[in-house]
Amino acid sequence: MLTVKILMFGVVGAEHAAMKEFLCEHLVYDAHSVSQALKIIDSTPDISLCIVDIDASYRKGMKLLQTIHGNASFTTLRTLVLTNPGQIEHESEALITGASDYLHKPINKEIIRARIHVHQTIVNQRNQNRSAQEQELLLNTIFWQAPIGISICHSSAPNSNADDNIVSFNPMFEKITGWAKDELMKNGWAKITHPEDLAEDLHNFQKLQAGEISGYSMEKRYLKPDGTVVWVHMIVSQLSLKDDHTYKHMCLIQDITGRKEMEKALIESERSMSVLLSNLPGMAYRCMYDRMWTMQFLSAGCYELTGFAPEELLGNRKLSYEHVIAPEYREDVWEGWKRVLNKREPFTYEYEIITARGTRKWVWETGQGVFNEAGEVEAIEGIILDISDRKKFEDELTYYTDHDPWTGLYNRRSFLKMLDNSSFLHNSQKHALISINLSTIHTLSMRFGFHYSQKFVKKAVNALNALCSNDCLLFNIHEYRFVFYIKGYRDKNDLTSFCQTIFHTLSAMFATERIGWGIGIVELHEQNRNDTEILLKNLLVASEHALANFENEMNFCFFDKEMEQKIAREEALTKELFHIAAGRLTENLILHYQPILDLDGDTICGFEALARLKSDSLGMVAPMDFIPIAEKTKLIIPLGYLIIQKAFQFYQRLKANGYESICMSINISAIQLMKNDFVESLQTMVQDSCLDPSHFSLEITESVFTSNFQEVNTILGQLKEMGFQIALDDFGTGYSSFAREREMNIDCLKIDKFFIDKLVDINPHQAITGDIVSMAHKLGHCVVAEGVEHKQQLDYLRHFNCDKVQGYFISRPLEEDHAIAFIQIHDKPSTTDR
Ligand code: C2E
Ligand code: MG
Ligand code: MG
Repeated sequence: MLTVKILMFGVVGAEHAAMKEFLCEHLVYDAHSVSQALKIIDSTPDISLCIVDIDASYRKGMKLLQTIHGNASFTTLRTLVLTNPGQIEHESEALITGASDYLHKPINKEIIRARIHVHQTIVNQRNQNRSAQEQELLLNTIFWQAPIGISICHSSAPNSNADDNIVSFNPMFEKITGWAKDELMKNGWAKITHPEDLAEDLHNFQKLQAGEISGYSMEKRYLKPDGTVVWVHMIVSQLSLKDDHTYKHMCLIQDITGRKEMEKALIESERSMSVLLSNLPGMAYRCMYDRMWTMQFLSAGCYELTGFAPEELLGNRKLSYEHVIAPEYREDVWEGWKRVLNKREPFTYEYEIITARGTRKWVWETGQGVFNEAGEVEAIEGIILDISDRKKFEDELTYYTDHDPWTGLYNRRSFLKMLDNSSFLHNSQKHALISINLSTIHTLSMRFGFHYSQKFVKKAVNALNALCSNDCLLFNIHEYRFVFYIKGYRDKNDLTSFCQTIFHTLSAMFATERIGWGIGIVELHEQNRNDTEILLKNLLVASEHALANFENEMNFCFFDKEMEQKIAREEALTKELFHIAAGRLTENLILHYQPILDLDGDTICGFEALARLKSDSLGMVAPMDFIPIAEKTKLIIPLGYLIIQKAFQFYQRLKANGYESICMSINISAIQLMKNDFVESLQTMVQDSCLDPSHFSLEITESVFTSNFQEVNTILGQLKEMGFQIALDDFGTGYSSFAREREMNIDCLKIDKFFIDKLVDINPHQAITGDIVSMAHKLGHCVVAEGVEHKQQLDYLRHFNCDKVQGYFISRPLEEDHAIAFIQIHDKPSTTDR
């Protein structure tokens, strides 16, 4: 018999002793108060029966019964009431309260044992039902709340929506597949299975149905309603319930999309890694942190890079990687790694290796340390790439940034770099720059073409290159300009003799081409060597000076104090001219007027306006000093207009003094004349001042025609049409040609002083001056002789019918007041002229 836990309440005396004896094989607890009884029931959960003697203490007994049956947690506890026979009221009341049974005293052993058995059976039955219910609840909970999808299918048709297709899906199944239960039932699983996975699934399923297998698992994809795919791990197994022989299977699915994506990414990254490694222009490695760089892994590119197979280097089998590194870099590589590993930083370095064939290659290594938990270097990992091509390219690039590609000489950039070099600045040796100015070579280009001149330059450079040494470097600082940088020479004589060597080297070559060239020399010293701009400028000035004097065979020129002063003076003049041109201090530009004598009636027929600059710093400056600067800087254009304006004003003064018929000559520079709007501007000026242009003669020099004869002649024609007279100044000094003179739109020829001076030196019969006068007359031009200083010259000119003369013999250029006074004394104006 099964041992039953029994609580006895209120049983005393003979009944108590009897009960103890009868129930000796059971576990019996005694209680005499309600609280004691409840305490025992609470602490003994599987207590099945409570025997309550209500006759002994009816009130207490009933209280206990009410408590037990009023409490839902004691539903399985059976209560048996002991009464004396005839206590029907007690019995019925106890039964109404909930007591399970009653028994009359005296207690019979067999009856009590039988009753205990009955009640125990009932308790057991109830317990079983309860656990079945609990199990069902648990299973339901699992089904509905499981984090995996579950379907239980009663159908054998994967696509069927037949009536027998009874399928249960839990919410997770719906969630994973994205399909609602109804749709799942309607479609069947095959329709929502990814086509690529369907064949395998169906194959397994058929085997399952055929009973060949009891279950299968696979990773497959479902197509979700939105067309996306969900990866699942699926387990399908037959379901056989004890009493149910119909077909059933269960399908469990777990969403593994995330894992699959990771796998895909991993596969992709492994694939990329392998693609990378196999296409690396070098090798990937893992090595130990030791002096040998003992290799633990080397990618296949090792052979291509080093000429050694990976196996030869792995574990230093044939040789270590240290021996592959070119000896001069080994220490640097080691120290470099040591430095970065201490700071746990990545390493990058460029060095050379020596391949199996003994050739050198430039490599770029980058890598980093692998550290263990203790922070020690476990290994080093990285890549080593072949950068030989890049290095070659870099070298070429460096070469071309520092050299002129045509001549192969150091270029201007490296020249300036050298000048900036600090060691150069602090060197106590003597330094000088010798510039060879071959700028006239451009005329060769014009004559024979660019190719010819370039070849000529190359030839010259090759010859000059032969003069180079460690202390004498040659640079190509500009097109057709070359500079020798010389150091360690003793004195100027050394430089002079070097210039003579240059002269001998090039002279024959240049003589055959009949072009000039010049050498400029600048010695470097504390004051000038820091300003490269000035150095270059001075060098150019000196070489240009030498070039300008080439015909005098002075082909080299030191940049000296005199030249420096000249430059300073030029700069000061430029500044002052700029101010005047800008309308400030215009009174500093002064005109003096030189009288012109008409030999026909010995009257003063005109004045030539000659400009002077009253400089604050330099005093009175002659036109020969500032006009070329004004022309070079183009300031002659505004200054020219100012001069014309001043000449006009003086003419107005002369007119007011009764000298209206006087002709005012104004010098016009080529730059002025060629300015687009010159004719119009002059027209406006004439109109504004209400003057008659026929009282003005514009003097231009022959050199104007060298630029473009036709164009110049057209402009002169326009000026003549306006009424101006045109005089050709300094005739005989330039490209004089009587042949072209016939076509020129000029009225007058001014014979240069050179031909007038000759009249003093040579026998008058041998002079050609008279011939010039008569030829000019034949061409219909009036003739003015310039620079007449002696009577003898005047007589000659008068004899040869020269029309007008101008010179110190008549008068020097005069200030306005003096000019007026001069004419008043010399020539009384006739009343008809007024
Ligand atoms: P130019 O036009 O041939 O002027 C004649 C120059 O000869 C003047 O020199 C004049 O003073 C000088 N001269 C005249 N007679 C004698 C003489 O008997 N003996 C000597 N030794 N010299 C004499 P200046 O004034 O120094 O002018 C020099 C040149 O400057 C002028 O030569 C002219 O080409 C230029 N020039 C002067 N003023 C102007 C100007 O306003 N505009 C332009 N574009 N050039 C000017
Ligand atoms: Mg003149
Ligand atoms: Mg002249």
